[in-house]
Amino acid sequence: MGMENRTHFGVDKSKCIKCGKCMNTCSGMVLQAGPDGYPQMKEFERFGWRGCWRCQHCLAVCPTGAISIFDKKPEDSLPKPPGQMGCYMESLITNRRSCRRFLDKNVESSVISSMLKAMEAAPTGGNAQGV
Ligand code: SF4
Ligand code: SF4
Repeated sequence: MGMENRTHFGVDKSKCIKCGKCMNTCSGMVLQAGPDGYPQMKEFERFGWRGCWRCQHCLAVCPTGAISIFDKKPEDSLPKPPGQMGCYMESLITNRRSCRRFLDKNVESSVISSMLKAMEAAPTGGNAQGV
């Protein structure tokens, strides 16, 4: 028996709009569209590489709260902290997600330049310029 049954992955079809976000973001690439177009989990042998990473990105990105996994349900999730001044750092940290799926296209040089510009303001540790 594959390990996928241990994830308790579920899709509420009354909420799913088949946007594909969960499948596109899945770190382990274990989600795919089933014959009816709704996401389903592929069989896999182990957690981690070549399997489910337990990251719960699928649950986090679903715009309609249709996914449950590892017995976590969207309605049990904490609300996003307000992004207002004073809570901005909290919002940045708690909403942060690792991205392991990328589009095969170049990043505009203007975007890279502005990122480098922002990085110039990183802490320098006694002006050692380590980063
Ligand atoms: S928990 Fe992560 S790796 Fe597992 S199905 Fe969801 S997005 Fe994919
Ligand atoms: S992200 Fe949610 S709404 Fe979109 S396909 Fe996946 S389960 Fe359906």
